[in-house]
Amino acid sequence: VAAALEHYRIEELESLFESWGCKASHAAPLVRAYYATGAFPAQGVLALPSALRQRLIDSPTALSTTVDTRDVSSDGTVKLLLRLHDGGTVESVMIPDLAGRRVAGCISSQVGCSMQCDFCATTKTGFERNLSAGEMVAQFLALRREADAADQRLQTVVFMGMGEPLLNVDEVLEAVRRIADNRYGGLGWRQVTISTVGIVPGIEKLTEAGLAFHLAVSLHAPDDMTRAKLLPTGKRYTINEILRAADLFQARRGRPVTIQYCLLRGINDSLDQARQLAALVGRRRMHVNLLTYNPTGTSLRGIDYEPSTPEQADAFHAVLREAGIVTHFRKSRGPDIDAACGQLRHRHASPPETSS
Ligand code: SF4
Repeated sequence: VAAALEHYRIEELESLFESWGCKASHAAPLVRAYYATGAFPAQGVLALPSALRQRLIDSPTALSTTVDTRDVSSDGTVKLLLRLHDGGTVESVMIPDLAGRRVAGCISSQVGCSMQCDFCATTKTGFERNLSAGEMVAQFLALRREADAADQRLQTVVFMGMGEPLLNVDEVLEAVRRIADNRYGGLGWRQVTISTVGIVPGIEKLTEAGLAFHLAVSLHAPDDMTRAKLLPTGKRYTINEILRAADLFQARRGRPVTIQYCLLRGINDSLDQARQLAALVGRRRMHVNLLTYNPTGTSLRGIDYEPSTPEQADAFHAVLREAGIVTHFRKSRGPDIDAACGQLRHRHASPPETSS
C-alpha cells in the first residue's frame, strides 16, 4: 500500500523527502507511527501533506515482505512464513507468555543457514542469503501486528530463528537499533536478545557495539568433542574461546549472558554432563536456559534425535539448581505447527511425503 518504510533510516527518509520538495521533519513522526502499528498511518492517525502522502502511497513496493503462511498452534504459538521481495522465505514465530498478555517474538537473520547444526531443520535446506536490516524489521512489524490483533503486547524479541545472526552481524545490529530505539520501534534495548552458536569475532563485535541488548550462546554440550558432533562450528571455536568472548560481553554490559542448552536423550543429558556444565557457567554467573527438543526428523548425520525424558530433564535441571545457577526450563512450544526453527519452511520446500 505504501513505501516499505522499514528499509529506511530516518536520516535517509529526511533526505528523500527533501529531494521531493517536502519537509524533512515529517520523517521521524512518520517512522514512529509506522513502527507503532506495523502499517502506514491513516490521515486521522498522522497528518501529512497530501502531496507527500500520495507520493509515499505511490512509491514502488518492490521490497515489500508479505505473509505467505500463518499457522496457529493449540498453545497459541503463531508461526509466520514470510515471503521476501525475491521469492525467498523466512520464518518468524510469536510465542505467548501463558502467564499474561505478553508475547515474545523470534526473528530470522538469514534465508536458510550454513552452520549445519545436526539437530536443526533449517540447515537441511542450505544457505541462500543474508537478510537486510529492513527484512528483519519487517518480521518484527509482522509480529507486532499479530500481537496487536490478539490483544497482546509484543514484549521481547530474540534473534534465534533461521540463520546465524553473527554471520550477518552488521545488518542484525542495524535491525536491533531500529527495533529497540525510541525513535523507531521503541521496544527497549533490554527486550532484545541476540543468540549465537558461538562465532567469536561476532561476539567481540557485539561487545564493541556498546548497546544494551542481551546475548545468548547456544552451547548444547559441556565438552568440545560432543559439541563438535552437534555443531560443526565447534571445530572452529572451542568452548573456552566462546566463553571468554562472552565473559568480556558480560563484563562490559554488566548483565548475565544466557547459555542455551537443548536436552537430547542420551547425547548431552547425563548428570555428569550437567556437572560439567555447572562447572563452566557457575563461576561466571551466567544463566542457563534448558530447552526441550522439538524433533525434526533424521539429521544430516543420520541420527533421529529425541528429547530427554521428563525425569532425566528434571534431574539435569536439579544439578544446575543445586550448584546455585539461575536456570530456566523452556518447554517445547507449538510442536503441532512445526514451530522448531526451519521446520515450517522445510515442509513448504519439500514435496509432499507419499506412502509406499
Ligand atoms: S540451529 Fe541456528 S545456527 Fe544452527 S543450523 Fe539451525 S539456524 Fe543455523
